[in-house]
Amino acid sequence: MTGWRFSPGGRAAGTDRRFTIVPGCANLKSPPRLLPVSAMSDTESLPDPLPDRSCGECSVCCVALTIDDPALRKAQGYRCQHLAREGGCGIYETRPHTCRTFYCGWRRLKWVRAPLRPDLSDVLIQLHWEASHQDGPKRLGVAVTLLHRRALKAEGLAETLAAAVAAGAPVFLNIPGPPGFTMAQAKINAALEAAVAARDKAGVLRILTDLYVRGRGGPRKRVVLGPAPAG
Ligand code: SF4
Ligand code: SF4
Repeated sequence: MTGWRFSPGGRAAGTDRRFTIVPGCANLKSPPRLLPVSAMSDTESLPDPLPDRSCGECSVCCVALTIDDPALRKAQGYRCQHLAREGGCGIYETRPHTCRTFYCGWRRLKWVRAPLRPDLSDVLIQLHWEASHQDGPKRLGVAVTLLHRRALKAEGLAETLAAAVAAGAPVFLNIPGPPGFTMAQAKINAALEAAVAARDKAGVLRILTDLYVRGRGGPRKRVVLGPAPAG
C-alpha cells in the first residue's frame, strides 16, 4: 500500500531554497535521501528548457508552489503578489533568482507529453534529485502534482507517468492541501509498476484515481517560511 506523508514547505537553513523540496516516503524500508534541485549547482545535469515549449499564458508555478527565496517568500496555493491580474510577472526584469532559474518538468523534459502544460492540464511536474543514503549516485526524478481532480483526465498523464516508471525514475505524487499547507506526497513507482509493465492505461488511471482520493485525506502541515524580505 502506498503511504502518504506531508511534503515540507518550510525553510531549509543555509540553502538557496527554491520551489518545494520533495521528501522521502514514510513507507519505504530504506527511504531515499532527496535533494532539492537548489542543492546542486545550477547547471549540473539538468536538462535545458526545450526550445519548442514556452510558458505562454501559464503562471501555475507563481501560485501553486512555495517560494522561499530571500527576495520573495510565499506559501503554496497563494498567488504571488507580483503576478499581474491579466497574467505575467509584474517585476519580470527584476524577478528573484528562484524565478529566473525555475522551469517545470513540462518545460524541461521531452518525455512529458505536450498536452500537459500545467495551466491546461492541472498537472504540474517538478524535477528533483534522489540520492542514496551515503552519497550514492543521484537520480533525477519527478514530483507530479495533481492540482485538481480533473487532472486525472489530462491527455498524456498516464503515458507520461508510465514512461517515467518504465525508465526507473523516482516518481512522487503530490496532492495539494488548502493554501498555506503542505502537499500530501507518496512515491508511486511500486504502485504503478505492474500496470505499466502490462501497458494497461486504464489500470494506471484507476490506480492514480485511488491515490488521488486517498491523498486528499493525507497528512499536511502548515508551511513555515523564512523571514519576510526586507522593505
Ligand atoms: S508552471 Fe511551467 S509552464 Fe507554467 S509558468 Fe511555470 S515554468 Fe512556465
Ligand atoms: S515574482 Fe514574478 S515570476 Fe516570481 S512568482 Fe512572482 S509573478 Fe511569478
